[in-house]
Amino acid sequence: MTSEIFMDYKQIWAGIRSMYEDEGALEGKIRGEHLGSVIRLTPYAMAANIGSASLMLWALQDLRSIGLYLWYTCMLATACVAMQRWRHYAHRQLQTASRRAARRATWHASILAVLWACLPVFWFASVTSGQQLLIATLFTGMLSAGTFLLSPLPRASLCYASIFTAAALWALWDAGEPIMAGVAGLMVFYAPINMVGAISSWRKATALIISRSEAVRQEQLLSTVFRDFEQSANEALWEIRTNGMLAQASARLCTLLRLPPAHAPSTSLPEWLAQHAVRENDAFSKILDQQAPFHSLPMALEIHGERFHLAFTGKPFKDEWGHIRGWRGVVADKTSIVQAQEQLERLAHTDSLTGLANRFFIHQAIAEEMQAGRGGALLLIDLDYFKTVNDTLGHSVGDAVLQEIAKRLQTASAPTHLMARLGGDEFAVLMRQSRDGSYPLALAQRQAQILAEALNRPLHMEGRRLRMGASIGLALFEPGDTDVDGLLVQADTALYVAKDAGRGRYVAYTPEMGERNQRKARLENDLREAIQRREMSLHWQPQIDVSTGRLCGAEGLLRWQHPELGAIAPTEFIQIAEQSGIIDTLGAWVLLQACEAAVHQPALAGLDVSVNVSALQLRDADFVTVVQATLLTTGLAPHRLELEITESVFIEDPARALQQLHALRALGVRIALDDFGTGYSSLSYLSQFPFHTLKIDRAFMQKAGEHGCGHTIVKSIVRMASDLGMRTVAEGVEAPEQLALLCEMGATQAQGYLWSRPCSAEAFAALRSKWDQGTAEERVPMRSEAP
Ligand code: C2E
Ligand code: CA
Ligand code: CA
Repeated sequence: MTSEIFMDYKQIWAGIRSMYEDEGALEGKIRGEHLGSVIRLTPYAMAANIGSASLMLWALQDLRSIGLYLWYTCMLATACVAMQRWRHYAHRQLQTASRRAARRATWHASILAVLWACLPVFWFASVTSGQQLLIATLFTGMLSAGTFLLSPLPRASLCYASIFTAAALWALWDAGEPIMAGVAGLMVFYAPINMVGAISSWRKATALIISRSEAVRQEQLLSTVFRDFEQSANEALWEIRTNGMLAQASARLCTLLRLPPAHAPSTSLPEWLAQHAVRENDAFSKILDQQAPFHSLPMALEIHGERFHLAFTGKPFKDEWGHIRGWRGVVADKTSIVQAQEQLERLAHTDSLTGLANRFFIHQAIAEEMQAGRGGALLLIDLDYFKTVNDTLGHSVGDAVLQEIAKRLQTASAPTHLMARLGGDEFAVLMRQSRDGSYPLALAQRQAQILAEALNRPLHMEGRRLRMGASIGLALFEPGDTDVDGLLVQADTALYVAKDAGRGRYVAYTPEMGERNQRKARLENDLREAIQRREMSLHWQPQIDVSTGRLCGAEGLLRWQHPELGAIAPTEFIQIAEQSGIIDTLGAWVLLQACEAAVHQPALAGLDVSVNVSALQLRDADFVTVVQATLLTTGLAPHRLELEITESVFIEDPARALQQLHALRALGVRIALDDFGTGYSSLSYLSQFPFHTLKIDRAFMQKAGEHGCGHTIVKSIVRMASDLGMRTVAEGVEAPEQLALLCEMGATQAQGYLWSRPCSAEAFAALRSKWDQGTAEERVPMRSEAP
């Protein structure tokens, strides 16, 4: 119901109907207010009624009518009932009233009106003209007063006025005097005016009630919103005067500002913020100076060691002349959001396992150092045997190892160093310096040494003692350098050199290494096509039976003739093939070539052929199948093939290696342990796997001639092998004395430059034919030309 309902009469009637009939809260409230205002006036109204009735009784006493006394008694009784109702409601604030109460009020008003109507209806015609005047005057007064008094209750008011008017007209007509027609005319004129006035008064009062209740509702809503805002949200309202002093600081605002409430009235907000800002402490004053609205001004503050973040939104407020009187707005606590963002940022920069920086972050840090024009040093660290630990002891131990390594790095490094885990078992340390100029190489080397020692100390994990060891590559950058990736490549190159040099050590980068690296990259690239381009070939080196001097076998050794770089040593390209994953293809090709040659080349007829097999090839699950298929396709008798493996096959996964070797043995091929004595020399493998042949490394043969330790070692290897039922092949026999010694020791076979260098198939054919022509007693062999 709104004020529009008064636009026309239809709406007025609808409004009245709604007030009496509708159950709504607002209608109940309107009824209550109107009824209340009528009830409040009851004592005066009743006093007027009784007074007037008493006056009438006195004025009409000469009638001596029982009816009049009865009328007067009824009037008194009605007044008593009304007063009783007034007493009932007197001490209550009527919030709402029922529809019944409103209807009852109409009935009361009507009864009262009927009582008054009796006066003219029964007695007007029979009294003196003076008494008639009194009745008419009183009646008119009671009509107007009653109608207005009852105006808040329109139905009561209308009924009252209608009954009064009807009674007056009846009495005037009953009197039968012509002058009374004029009075009746006046009555007909006054009554509607009274009614319209009453309705209009009701209308205004109702509109007032509605707007008041709307205002109360809005006030309640606002205060609820405000209370919620102050209590639950992480926000508070702030207001300052032009001098910056806080005005009406709420408890919530004080909490957000970490300001003791007692100090609030004497605190200037811009000063308080400036005093505790972490950086840019005049930001708030500056934005106020702009005298314009601002939004979400971030402020990082620190009070008593607590860091928190607020965001201020506000605008100036002005007086009627347009002068700024102060600022007000909202302040929000953004601490949790900012902390979450910082946490995310940290995570993006941190390796979650070790808590060190990650690859991205150290890259960025190096770039920053370079941009600042400072020199520094970068260490790249690679754990030597991490993969074995991870594979054999499981990932949780692997993780614990990495965490322990990270701790050691931190302990062994200076606070200015930045430690990072680049991934897997690769770490990096950036050594920064505060001064300008180059980073001293000696200092970087000392630090690398300290780290190498720290990381080479054994680890204790789950009751085991693990030797980890780390190789370290070191590269320096000079003021003016800008190439972060180049630096990483240099450190990586140095790291590979360190690994090649035998692990557990550090190597500083030199430009020559760069060339080596470039060569390595080129070779790796060219190696992929070397077979198709027919640059690869297999050379053969004869193996001689020491006791008979007979040619008994040949070792196939791979050769690569690079079109531009010339002959590349197998020691160089085999390693590249292993590192780049080409070794499987290359190895399979060598095997096929060797087997085919053994079957088809007359020079190899009746000889055993040895083929070198890389540890990586043996690890391949398909290797046994490849060997089997090659034997099948070439038709070589398996016992003529000897596969030479080195002890390095046992490093990573000994159980798996043994399993593969047994599977190969089951094919009927022979297995030789190459370079025996140089590798990891775990004699336990000799008892675990029955090798057919032990190849004694060349290094021992060189020392054997000097009757030093080499002599003793060769002797004991030969004895041990013969005890285990294995053949021995002595490698690198160059001098007749060495051969004599081998004879004396009882070695089975020998190979070396004494008889021939490894040579091409054609050269080997020539060698063989000469050999076959040679005499048995003339055992000192012919020398072939170097390849
Ligand atoms: P290895 O298996 O120990 O081969 C013997 C090496 O000693 C050969 O070097 C051979 O030329 C050399 N040699 C033989 N007799 C003498 C001697 O009297 N004095 C000296 N100073 N050296 C002698 P090469 O051919 O350069 O091969 C080096 C290594 O490359 C081989 O060592 C082997 O580990 C690897 N290799 C060669 N071909 C293959 C291959 O087809 N597959 C695999 N996986 N490795 C191969
Ligand atoms: Ca070999
Ligand atoms: Ca060897």
